[in-house]
Amino acid sequence: MLKIYICPQCYNFRMVSKKPDAICFHCGEILEKCDIEYNAYINMTEEDRNKYRENYKSRIKLYHEKLDNMLQKKFI
Ligand SMILES: [Zn+2]
Repeated sequence: MLKIYICPQCYNFRMVSKKPDAICFHCGEILEKCDIEYNAYINMTEEDRNKYRENYKSRIKLYHEKLDNMLQKKFI
């Protein structure tokens, strides 16, 4: 059963069958599981995938901003 993963570093999608293999071919980063089913992924257009990627990017950015804020509050 293939699962769809995305790289948090270079935002490439990858299909992975076993979890230990979930590493990015491009940058070696550990991939994150997408909330997309394999069947949905193969039916997505390039545009849909780009849209998903953009959403993911802004979520990651938001997450890092929150994390930075939390760390700053802790140490200042
Ligand atoms: Zn990558």
